[in-house]
Amino acid sequence: MIATKGFAAQSATTALEPFKFERRELGAKDVLIDILYCGVCHSDVHQARNEWGGSIFPMVPGHEIVGRISKVGKDVTKFKVGDIAGVGCFVDSCRVCASCREGLEQYCEGGGMVGTYNSLERDKKTPTYGGYSSQIVVDESYTLHIPSNLALERVAPLLCAGITTYSPLMHWKVSTGDRVGVLGLGGLGHMAVKLAASLGADVTVLSTSKKKEDDAKKLGAHHFALTSDTTVMSSLRNHFNFIIDTVSAAHDLNQYLGLLHRDGTLIVVGAPPKPIPLHNFSLIGGRKKIGGSLIGGIKETQEMLDYCGKHNIMSDVEVIPIQKINEAYERMLKGDVKYRFVIDMATL
Ligand code: NAP
Ligand code: ZN
Ligand code: ZN
Repeated sequence: MIATKGFAAQSATTALEPFKFERRELGAKDVLIDILYCGVCHSDVHQARNEWGGSIFPMVPGHEIVGRISKVGKDVTKFKVGDIAGVGCFVDSCRVCASCREGLEQYCEGGGMVGTYNSLERDKKTPTYGGYSSQIVVDESYTLHIPSNLALERVAPLLCAGITTYSPLMHWKVSTGDRVGVLGLGGLGHMAVKLAASLGADVTVLSTSKKKEDDAKKLGAHHFALTSDTTVMSSLRNHFNFIIDTVSAAHDLNQYLGLLHRDGTLIVVGAPPKPIPLHNFSLIGGRKKIGGSLIGGIKETQEMLDYCGKHNIMSDVEVIPIQKINEAYERMLKGDVKYRFVIDMATL
């Protein structure tokens, strides 16, 4: 076994603190990655605090991982020692169901994907531990190549925030001329802005925070709308072809469905802990749709990374030492992050 250091939550109500554990010895197809950076996703907070239920403790969160390969199993072909590699939100899946065969492992029908943390391996008993740690052992098939022109600390958030917004933009074929609203300007939201703008869409940030207006434009949005401003909200009725909803807490879906043009789609990626009421009339008038989307498969994640390499797209980050992780969670809850915290694992 491989002795590993990390930070873990011991329960839903305790702060994250240093934790020692072991990674498995490398199998024939495994790589060992020395973790350099790990992004901090709002899903880490939801799960560390058991807001979705079913959390497994102790929990080492983190699923936006970038590091350097330090060892490879005997049958590894995709990577060699010294390569930079990424790991996102899952590290395994059944590999044989229709979704897995289509490269949509996140929707695995054969028992579900194995999450990078807060999950059980396919043996259904070994807990997985995430990227707030010194190293990780992952099957090469669930490991990504990182374009060499991108800054590593700014790449880490692409592994979740990037793919979670890229995948629905691709699925719904968002392109030039589409009017896209991005609801919530946080980690996912700022990547949605960059990616949608890069595809030629006319992008509006819909935000509760007036102070984010200048940043929204710098990130590539064409317009900014404060969601508490009723005059602005009325002027946007029937406006958008798509709204990407990245909000992490309770909010009124019906209000935003009213901003969609006929046949428009509200794309839900934010995952608030409690159900949100929906008024059927919000959909009926205007033949509107709501669709959800979960991260992205390995094939599409690699495609997204290559796209970001080609277009020089990276996350805007604040690099923190791991000792500041609990403070970072509190700041994220207050919307005080520009626009993703990334842990420098050298501080562990
Ligand atoms: P984040 O950085 O905290 O951003 C969330 C943003 O939502 C905030 O910056 C804020 O934007 C807005 N917001 C927060 N509370 C709000 C409230 N009460 N009312 C209205 N707006 C509010 O979080 P994130 O990492 O981007 O994650 C966002 C959500 O997506 C989380 O629920 C996370 O679990 C989920 N997620 C889903 C997937 C997936 O596969 N579908 C993947 C990753 C994450 P403004 O200040 O601009 O209003
Ligand atoms: Zn995430
Ligand atoms: Zn499967």
